[in-house]
Amino acid sequence: MTDAAALPGQPRGGVLSGSATARAVNVLAPNPSAMTLDGTNTWIVSEPDSDLAVVIDPGPLDDGHLRRVVDTAAEAGKRVALTLLTHGHPDHAEGAARFAGLTGTKVRALDPALRLGDEGLAAGDVITVGGLELRVVPTPGHTADSLCFHLPADRAVLTGDTILGRGTTVVAHPDGRLGDYLDSLRRLRSLTVDDGVHTVLPGHGPVLEDAQGAVEFYLAHRAHRLAQVETAVEDGHRAAADVVAHVYADVDRSLWPAAELSVRAQLEYLTEHGLI
Ligand SMILES: [Zn+2]
Repeated sequence: MTDAAALPGQPRGGVLSGSATARAVNVLAPNPSAMTLDGTNTWIVSEPDSDLAVVIDPGPLDDGHLRRVVDTAAEAGKRVALTLLTHGHPDHAEGAARFAGLTGTKVRALDPALRLGDEGLAAGDVITVGGLELRVVPTPGHTADSLCFHLPADRAVLTGDTILGRGTTVVAHPDGRLGDYLDSLRRLRSLTVDDGVHTVLPGHGPVLEDAQGAVEFYLAHRAHRLAQVETAVEDGHRAAADVVAHVYADVDRSLWPAAELSVRAQLEYLTEHGLI
């Protein structure tokens, strides 16, 4: 769920569909839009010599897409053994129950309402399937239930909507909170600095090979937007829609409703920090 198209200064993306790293393959869902960029990225992740795979974000409830994910894994000699969700937005999670039915897998997510089976996901959990290791990284902010998955063997991180391959993401107020989101970006920055992660496998848009650059770009973009919102309020534009019209004048109007959610999150942040 994006609130802007490609932005100046943003790291350029590479692979959009197919193999992205030694362990991650993207099956692009046929749901492109202003909000979902090229469509949702459904990731199949597995050890190269294993016949078991994990699927992250089955995507929308589209039978053709869900079957294509199963077939893509099967063509590589793999059976889907587990389904994970980065968060509960329908473009990532709507097809999860149907996909679980097709594959006989459980669904693990932070939000208990999205799970199938008795296992959830929590900060610090390490998921191992067929020798594959994924570490759960809590990254609230886009939504309260947003998670990333660190794939250490490929020095990669699957970011859902927390970082996109193009543009920037929505802080979906009131569920998403800006303070949480900034903390999450800093958590991802430490993955790039301390754990050597260099590849972003996003929930929408192309793969980014400069993970640290992407995180720094997102932090800088957020600081820039926040300063713009603060100035707009100081100039007397107090209503969220009014702030959007001033701050997001350069963004396509179809994205303004999403931008308004981010503005509401920014107004809340500024108020809580006594800045307006
Ligand atoms: Zn989302």
